[in-house]
Amino acid sequence: MTVTAETTWTDQTATLSPVLKQATPVVVDHALGSWIHGTDGHDYLDFTTGIGVTSTGHCHPRVVAAAQEQCAKIIHAQYTTVMHPPLLELTEKLGGVLPLGLDSVFYANSGSEAVEAAIRLARMATERPNIVVFQGGFHGRTVAAASLTTAGTRFSAGFSPLMGGVHMAPFPYAYRYGWDTDTAVDFALRELDYLLTSRVAPNDTAAFLIEPVLGDGGYLPTPPRFLQGLRERADRHGILLILDEVQAGFGRTGRFWGHQHAADVTPDILITAKGLASGFPISAIAAPTDLMAKAWPGSQGGTYGGNAVAAAAAVATIDVIRDENLVENARVRGEQMLDGLAAIAARYDAIGNVRGLGLMAGIEFVTGESGDAPVPDAATALAVQQATTRHGLLTLTCGPAGNVVRLIPALVVTSDEIDMGLER
Ligand code: PLP
Repeated sequence: MTVTAETTWTDQTATLSPVLKQATPVVVDHALGSWIHGTDGHDYLDFTTGIGVTSTGHCHPRVVAAAQEQCAKIIHAQYTTVMHPPLLELTEKLGGVLPLGLDSVFYANSGSEAVEAAIRLARMATERPNIVVFQGGFHGRTVAAASLTTAGTRFSAGFSPLMGGVHMAPFPYAYRYGWDTDTAVDFALRELDYLLTSRVAPNDTAAFLIEPVLGDGGYLPTPPRFLQGLRERADRHGILLILDEVQAGFGRTGRFWGHQHAADVTPDILITAKGLASGFPISAIAAPTDLMAKAWPGSQGGTYGGNAVAAAAAVATIDVIRDENLVENARVRGEQMLDGLAAIAARYDAIGNVRGLGLMAGIEFVTGESGDAPVPDAATALAVQQATTRHGLLTLTCGPAGNVVRLIPALVVTSDEIDMGLER
């Protein structure tokens, strides 16, 4: 074939990459609130919310209006070239919901990019190389974020070498160990201390990185005492505590931030994305100003970061969450959902464990025990996920072994919709 500089127009049809294998056969025509209307003519109750993204429900009228209005003013202005009002307004609004002291904000587009920005900042600020992550953590798919991810080998196998300096410590996964939460927390903290004396010197360690609720790792709330133990060790050794609130933040757990279930824990760097703009791609990290100032210009940034339309949607999202009392709704509806799931679990041996926080619920499927540990049953989890779709309820699976069905309704979900979801 002769390659020429000229573009050749053909009638070829491109197809989607095979890695874009859908969890459901649904093609969306339009969506509103908790509902997706498929091109197949069916209505689906959406307990996936674009993987925890459409926090205010699909196409909330105030978010739609804000985005439409912004589109007509300016769509994109690269933020290190010229600034735009929505990003300034968003930064001011975030000041009202961020933990005290985290008063400097940097913007990117996705969770993975924000995770990378946090890691870069931690290394630059401490001049230390090592990052300690916790078993089952998910932090994204870019190479650095995948290096920090231990929620399944599928996220990193085959494209090594990954980023160096990452060390994994145990997570207090009480159900898996067959222990109560306190025993699991004691064990995990002891193992962390052992790691810090045996392999990863504290004064070579930049940060601990953890999610307040493990997301892809199986919807496991991080016990408050574990977060407190990390905070205490971070303070003792001059290590930064980075909390990945990409999935658990923005009201989803029934508090504005997932870590706020643990008293006296404030991160040094907080990462947020997903629910931040109800579906528009934008992410952020927040840190104290003096810490943020340790990153030099050019070390962080990107062409699209802090996009004007996404920022306007994020401003509207924060307003809607406040005006419609959605954090409290997430708490109350989350309790309703977890109570209902516990009642369902009591009827089926295949359900080993139900857990969650607010509107993040995980149903773990197992087949008996081998040794002390329950055996993951991914086939049943997948069959349940597919069956709920056939019954008009969209759900997802997660967990390193793929044996957890997760429910992530929108923060606007109603009591009737939760009951309907449980029924389905
Ligand atoms: N961190 C957490 C906790 C996540 O759940 C995710 C995505 O699911 C990410 C990071 C990566 O975000 P993104 O897919 O936007 O890159």
